[in-house]
Amino acid sequence: MSVNRFTLHQRRKTFLPDIPERSCLYPLAPWGVGTSDVESLTSYVARLAAIHQVPTGILLGKYVTPIISQFTDKDVPRISHSFWRAFGTDTGAWNGLGVMAFNCSVAVCSLTKQHHLHLLTLLSCHQVLSHRGLLRPYKAWCPACYEEWEKLGIVLHEPLLWSLKLVTVCVRHQQRLQHQCPYCYRSLYWLEWNSRPGFCSRCHQWLGKTECSREMLDKEEEVWQAFVVKNLAQLLVAAPTFASPPPRENIARGMKLCIDAVTGGNAKAFADKLYYSASVPGEWRRGNALPQLDLLFRLCYCLQVPLLKFLTGEVVLDEPVSLIPLPEHQSMRKKYRPFDFARVQGLLEAALQQSPPKTMRQVALEIGYDPGDLSKYFPDLCRAISVRYKRRKLEA
Ligand SMILES: [Zn+2]
Ligand SMILES: [Zn+2]
Repeated sequence: MSVNRFTLHQRRKTFLPDIPERSCLYPLAPWGVGTSDVESLTSYVARLAAIHQVPTGILLGKYVTPIISQFTDKDVPRISHSFWRAFGTDTGAWNGLGVMAFNCSVAVCSLTKQHHLHLLTLLSCHQVLSHRGLLRPYKAWCPACYEEWEKLGIVLHEPLLWSLKLVTVCVRHQQRLQHQCPYCYRSLYWLEWNSRPGFCSRCHQWLGKTECSREMLDKEEEVWQAFVVKNLAQLLVAAPTFASPPPRENIARGMKLCIDAVTGGNAKAFADKLYYSASVPGEWRRGNALPQLDLLFRLCYCLQVPLLKFLTGEVVLDEPVSLIPLPEHQSMRKKYRPFDFARVQGLLEAALQQSPPKTMRQVALEIGYDPGDLSKYFPDLCRAISVRYKRRKLEA
């Protein structure tokens, strides 16, 4: 190599600027990774669209979907098909632990060059938790949190915790999470054409309003929710430190320990004590099924085993084990009964005429059916009952 060429080569090496990897979209940093307030992937996507000043639907259609379309699966010929079918009605799954969460987080990572967006989902638990009953299909939010963040100048976001069905209360503000816009009375999917944290994606009104009806929490529910949120928070804080996702074997090992300690290895007797179906603990112990989060929490509560330790295979049970009684709403087996459409419709129609009007939640309690089932089968009647209650409240 001649002196000149050597010098040029050296110069190029010396002066070559250290250019970071270019991203297609703005490299927005995710909010709260490693804290209990970590935002969900759907929250991140909606904020990303807002930064680009386009509706969320445009960002998804133009940038995210073409990448997702490249993923193929043996069972699903083109993921894009299931993506579009699920779009709107199933975007909650983006925050979960299945294929939607995986593909969508990979796609958004590649667009933003933010490499840890899987931490905005529950993917780190995909080998230890069942997807059944895990996520809520519609948004839930705490208006007081939004109001507080707005006042303090904190980025408006939707914590991953709010996407979990099990979390029904904001522990910080001691109030139930809302799931219906107080202006248009609609439930909101996690991602819609105009999604934006803190605002209704249908009527675009601000959701951080605290004057909406605050139902009192009973003591048992308060204690249960505090336990649930504390344990989920520990899991979210620890997730970024996992070298690899906790393995499936942890569940079998943990279950064996618990069943041995409580009922000397008798899985059926254990099921009785925790109000599980008879076969559930045995299936978990054999590794045949993964636990549903809500059911697993019963065990964690009664035995005071931290969820994080159970999932990461670090359960320690000091003898003797004394069980803490479950709150009443957890100590009932789900009754499987046919949905009596004609009777329920009659009861809802009667509730619509009742004076004074009641909240949909109160009506559901009185009728004895799950509010989710009622709004699934009778959306118009349920909306009319809620609207009537809210109108009367505004007039009062
Ligand atoms: Zn709150
Ligand atoms: Zn609205």
